[in-house]
Order: sequence, then structure tokens, then C-alpha cells
Amino acid sequence: MTLQIAAGMVPIVIRARMAAGVAHAVPWGISLDGLLASEIRENTKAAARAAGTDYTPYSPDTVPEDLDLPLARCTSDGADRWHWAATFAWPEDEVPGPHVQYWSARPDQQALDQMSAELPALVSERQGRYRSRVMPLPLTVCRHLVWRAIGDSAAVAELLGPIMSIGKKRGAGHGHVLSWEITEHADADPWEFAHLHPNGNLGRTAPPTCLHDHRDVRTGGEGQMGLRPPYMHHARRTQVMLPDSGR
Ligand SMILES: [Zn+2]
Repeated sequence: MTLQIAAGMVPIVIRARMAAGVAHAVPWGISLDGLLASEIRENTKAAARAAGTDYTPYSPDTVPEDLDLPLARCTSDGADRWHWAATFAWPEDEVPGPHVQYWSARPDQQALDQMSAELPALVSERQGRYRSRVMPLPLTVCRHLVWRAIGDSAAVAELLGPIMSIGKKRGAGHGHVLSWEITEHADADPWEFAHLHPNGNLGRTAPPTCLHDHRDVRTGGEGQMGLRPPYMHHARRTQVMLPDSGR
């Protein structure tokens, strides 16, 4: 067995009841391990602030350290290319899309003027760093987001409980979570809960070795992406099977 399951960890389903849905930048959903890791980092940051000590943010120059999440690990591809036993979010009761919202931003000429001693006569809105922008924001409109995982349900619940919103543009009201619900499924297949969405398709990034005995699982193809958080850190990029985006 290539799943490292600590005592007290069982297959679980995490369900977030959403006010309206979630905004995201990639075709697949938000990763549960990423959510938990960023919550732990937020807590560490808050504790450092309260104690008046330093907090080290992620740096592009160093390999980020792995936080100890209350999840099992899948080590099918050896010691270094392991991943957490948890999927990315799956939308339940989704309102078929695509739903795309656009947001725009333009530089505040007055603010630039106050910040700089030598402002050119005209800061172009059409080109360069301070051009105005119109950006698409893909939305998933659904009642629930669902993750599957193997973990310590009480510890996962404690970390997720305070999270009020997830995804992109939370300040604009997107990704508002009404409640979190975690159910244990002690008899479920651990490998499935570590890798697959409820519909049986690949639900997370995984090394190709994970699928050697499961060749009929539908994936999003092969690509370069992280296997564990922080997913966007370049040191995490590696050749993986991508989750099926359901599109
Ligand atoms: Zn795996």
C-alpha cells in the first residue's frame, strides 16, 4: 500500500455550502491541501504578529517546506514525489456555464502623482505597467463544493471552520462559504478518496505512477504543475497527470 495513513485518519467528504459559487483562475477547483496549508500559514503569521516575532514568507529562491497537514500521504512515486491524500473541489448542483465576469482596473493618476517626484506628463492607459485592464473572471456557480480526502476529520474541521470565503476576488464577495460539513466514510476505498472526484474522474494532480493500476480513470491529460502546496511555487512544478476539469 502506498498510502501513509496515520492513526485516527479515515476517508472523509468535505462539503462547503456556498452562497453563490466560487471564482478561480484555473479550470479545476481549489485544492483541499492548499486551503489547509494556507490556513496554517495564516495562523502562524497571526501568532508571529501577536508575539512580535518574524514570519518568513514563501520565497521564490528557496524550496518551500512542507507543513504537517492532518491528511494521509500517497507515496506511490517514491519519497520526493508524494502528494496529500485529498482532491481538488468538485462543484455539486452546478448551474451550467460558462459564467464569466469581467473586472476592470485603471491607475489612479492622482495617487501616482503623490507617490512619484518625477511623473511623466502622461502615464499611458494603453501600454506599459500602468495600462488599464479588463480581466475575465471565470465563475463556478453551484450550491456546494465537495472534496474527498483521507484525514483526521476533527483536525480538518478545526482548520476549515474559520474560513469564510475561498477562491479569487473574495473581497468582492466571491466564494462566500455559508457552512462546512465533514462526514466520515470509514468503509470507503482509501485510494479513491485520495485521488478521485465523486464521479470517478481524477480529482487532483498526481504522478503518472498513481494511475498504473487504474488506467480507465479519466484525467485532464499530462502537464506541468505542482503535486502539493504551494502549487504555484516554481520549485513544485513537475510532470503530473492533471485533474479532469469536467468540461
Ligand atoms: Zn497518488
